Amino acid sequence: MGGAELIGREEQEAVSEVIGRGVLFRYGFNEKRKNVFKVLEFENQFSKYMGCSYALGVSSGSGAVRVAIAALGIKRGDEVIAPSFTFVATVEGVLEAGATPVLTEVDASLNMDPKDLEAKITDKTRAIMPVHMLGVPARMDEILAIARKRNIPVIEDSCQACGSGYKGKKTGTLGALGTYSFDYVKTLTTGEGGMVVTNEKKLYELACEYHDHGHVHNPEVPRGEDPHRITGFNYRMTEVQGAFGLVQLNRLDSVLADQRKNKGEIKKAIASIPPVKFRDLPDPEGDGGDTLAFFLPDAKVARAFNDHLAKSKVDTKILPSAMNWHFSGNWSHMIQHLPPYRTDAWPKSEALLKRAIALPISVRMSDEQKTRVIEAVHKAAKDVL
Ligand SMILES: *Cc1c(COP(=O)(O)O)cnc(C)c1O
Repeated sequence: MGGAELIGREEQEAVSEVIGRGVLFRYGFNEKRKNVFKVLEFENQFSKYMGCSYALGVSSGSGAVRVAIAALGIKRGDEVIAPSFTFVATVEGVLEAGATPVLTEVDASLNMDPKDLEAKITDKTRAIMPVHMLGVPARMDEILAIARKRNIPVIEDSCQACGSGYKGKKTGTLGALGTYSFDYVKTLTTGEGGMVVTNEKKLYELACEYHDHGHVHNPEVPRGEDPHRITGFNYRMTEVQGAFGLVQLNRLDSVLADQRKNKGEIKKAIASIPPVKFRDLPDPEGDGGDTLAFFLPDAKVARAFNDHLAKSKVDTKILPSAMNWHFSGNWSHMIQHLPPYRTDAWPKSEALLKRAIALPISVRMSDEQKTRVIEAVHKAAKDVL
């Protein structure tokens, strides 16, 4: 579960300090707040941690996706390419902008298949949005090369990969813009919340304006007299979230280290089961470590395997337990927005996903808990395979 497992006294004190000052809004009230700006501090620390120039705190990861799309000026008639395996919010963000989502197959990394990406680019493509699913970076070298060749900006949806890396850089910082979610089940949590990052001043300014009704935030004038050049909406982060996020950011490296250690131990202990084939990792060192995904020979075996694990009281995460929310083949409610697609338009992804099992890895996993998972997997393999 990531940072939520560690919520404690520090978060309580940080939030309580904000409430003590009585200013929950990120802008203004300088005297009353004694010039303490928690969202701003969180943004500064976050961009430093990620190694990028700008970070903008927002109200959710979904909001982050929407704001990033707005910063690129994407509108009706434009196409945005994303993978067919993602959380529904990636695609909702595109639809909210009035643009058309175009979805690719995923490969054995369970992330965007660069070959299918290339095939799906048209003269209407305005952004490419790879998603780093379940903490694992997408094949960014290939994706960035394709994007660069055609001069199409990349938005990395890093909502499930806060702190993950790709070849020495943090996921979210490799493209034009990156998005993170801090909802309750993400690696770093502020209850609800998110961040947009970029290295480009112009994109940061547009994101900042869009997330606050178009305010340009001129420090020389009162908020009510602030000019505007674009329309926006409200995706602001509160000071409570900012203070909470600062504490959680301090915990992030230890969250990642513990997850990676626990995952490594479990992975090693089940690697000897012959038909189990682990998911491809485009950069094993960059894996955030919160999920261990592997493939079984076919969908029927995977379902039986999952049922067997459930009987041993071992949960799965997303695959297969929440496929409804994470695979476009299940989104008939949205398909009207995805011409010419049908729900069976991603046969390769569907086949891969239906034979995958994903085990959640937590930060605080006792030796007994790890042993229980390992034994349950071995037992399921013995009975089912
Ligand atoms: C969680 C998530 C989001 C949305 O984040 P919220 O903070 O829950 O709105 C967007 N994209 C992906 C890939 C996610 O996992």
